[in-house]
Amino acid sequence: MPLTTLPDELQVPVELQEAWNAHPDIVKLGDPVLRQVAQPVTRVNAATQDLIRRMTRAMREANGLGLAAPQVGVSLRVIMYDTGEGLRVLINPKIIAMQGEQTDPPEGCLSIPGLQGIVKRAREIRVKAFDERMRPVTRRATGLEARVIQHEVDHIDGILFIDRAEPDTLHWITDAEEEASDATRE
Ligand SMILES: [Zn+2]
Repeated sequence: MPLTTLPDELQVPVELQEAWNAHPDIVKLGDPVLRQVAQPVTRVNAATQDLIRRMTRAMREANGLGLAAPQVGVSLRVIMYDTGEGLRVLINPKIIAMQGEQTDPPEGCLSIPGLQGIVKRAREIRVKAFDERMRPVTRRATGLEARVIQHEVDHIDGILFIDRAEPDTLHWITDAEEEASDATRE
């Protein structure tokens, strides 16, 4: 797969090729769908429910904290995450307020397995969205939850964490290192 968006020094190391093939239902860097601005959902129907089920399965199988629809190849504004308080689905999410700053933990992305980096994010956000039954919700999130929402909302705008990471901090880690690391997988 051509990785034209990565600089030479960040080409996927041979020892990570296996990790890149491990979850074929998750789209990897190099697929143009990850760079598209996704379309809003106009109504929730059987296809949307099916998409949500597919995303949930993919996120759980890859042991991820969060996932956006483009990561399963669907250019729609649907994101989900579970930071330990159960699954939350946000449709057409819009971040309406941001405050403060956080730089920890490092971020990783299920679409770029094995790469980590430091990304500066707002510490606290307010997000407006619809839930999986298209009921409007407004949510205040802080810390890790705020970080994951910002990462996933970036995905539906075609933005990846490598675009926002402090360039000197981007580095590849092996599977074993990843298990020991507190970096996010989303
Ligand atoms: Zn990601």
